[in-house]
Amino acid sequence: MEKYIVLDNISKVYKNSVKAVNDFNVEISKGDFVALVGPSGCGKSTTLRMIAGLESITSGTLFIEGKVANYLPSKDRDIAFVFQSYALYPHLSVFDNMAFGLKTRRINKAEIKQRVFKASDILNLGSLLDRRPKELSGGQMQRVALGRAIVRHASIFLMDEPLSNLDAKLRIKMRSEIVKLHKEIGSTTIYVTHDQLEAITMANKIVVMNLGYIQQIGNPMDIYNNPHNLFVATFFGTPTMNIIKVLYENESLDFGSYKYQLKDFKVKHDAFYQEKISKVKGILANLENGLAEYYFYESHNIEGENKKKIETIELEQVKVYFEKKLNLLEEALLSKHQLSFGIRPEHLVLSKEGIKGEVIFAEPLGSQIILHLNNDVQLLLNIDDYRNEEIITYLFNESKFYIFDNITGERII
Ligand code: ADP
Ligand code: MG
Repeated sequence: MEKYIVLDNISKVYKNSVKAVNDFNVEISKGDFVALVGPSGCGKSTTLRMIAGLESITSGTLFIEGKVANYLPSKDRDIAFVFQSYALYPHLSVFDNMAFGLKTRRINKAEIKQRVFKASDILNLGSLLDRRPKELSGGQMQRVALGRAIVRHASIFLMDEPLSNLDAKLRIKMRSEIVKLHKEIGSTTIYVTHDQLEAITMANKIVVMNLGYIQQIGNPMDIYNNPHNLFVATFFGTPTMNIIKVLYENESLDFGSYKYQLKDFKVKHDAFYQEKISKVKGILANLENGLAEYYFYESHNIEGENKKKIETIELEQVKVYFEKKLNLLEEALLSKHQLSFGIRPEHLVLSKEGIKGEVIFAEPLGSQIILHLNNDVQLLLNIDDYRNEEIITYLFNESKFYIFDNITGERII
């Protein structure tokens, strides 16, 4: 089946040389509800605005319905956009705010009325049509902003953090309203949010971003159960996944107070590092062939730097970064080294033998309790299983843990 919207290797460099989006590749089917999720500044709005035609695309190709759309004027894309700020006209009534975009498109009055009434029914705005925006609550303004998009009958809905100005209770209500709306209308929806729970609960496809790069694409359960790296693993879930630093040697993980023997790990471990090593060797061999700029971004991203200015690239700096990385990877392949052991709080249990920890804070949640340990580890237990001990011994569900490499942040198993 032909994909409805395709972003093929899209990048965005702003005029001030900030590289906001890098090598963005995603395929969206008709009717999808896609969430673009990641922390503030990771390039979500930039990506959405490029799809809407509100921001130019620096390189790569945007396809809409199989046609190149890079230069298609925004008004000619069959898109309705919901802004974070709502952007309502203060001097117009709710009715006129919703009707505005239709009037400018010269749709006849009877049709406009019919569409606005239908949308206000769906959104429960019927009694508010004569009010001005300043006479509305945040949730009501939010619904008007949605209404204005619905009446357009556009086949693509783009929403940029539409719920972030609402209080917690309303946010949860509006979440399900938007999902219901999507089911009713069926428009392909791309929804930007920094809230992992919104992404997990609303979308059928999640694109996780960090520092301008896609980290992982998948359905909610896949993203939650099968994270590809430390960023994705710790971004989703409350309480978040525990990351415990362990020493690895001879198929054994040393937790300090406990040693765990792994089975069949060495083959995967060695293959992982061999692959990374050959990749970095490839980069080093190619650096001088004009690729330094490309790899500069990786070096800066992993260092966690947000501003990626092109004019500051120096070949030597990039080379040093990758040589250091190569050394670390080669050491990791050959000798005892530190790995990150990932386990969600609900997959830890109290046990007679195991890892020792000191409880510094116990947080009852009703039927469950979160134990916060001194080494940043958290356990989520049934409240009856915990008897106020200060020192506990715990173990993990052996089918639920992950192991990550600390040099690349990527998952090994
Ligand atoms: P998000 O929506 O994920 O918070 P944005 O797409 O707004 O992120 O921004 C991504 C990066 O691009 C940030 O570093 C931001 O400062 C930068 N940026 C956004 N808009 C502009 C602009 N108009 N000019 C220059 N830099 C921008
Ligand atoms: Mg944004």
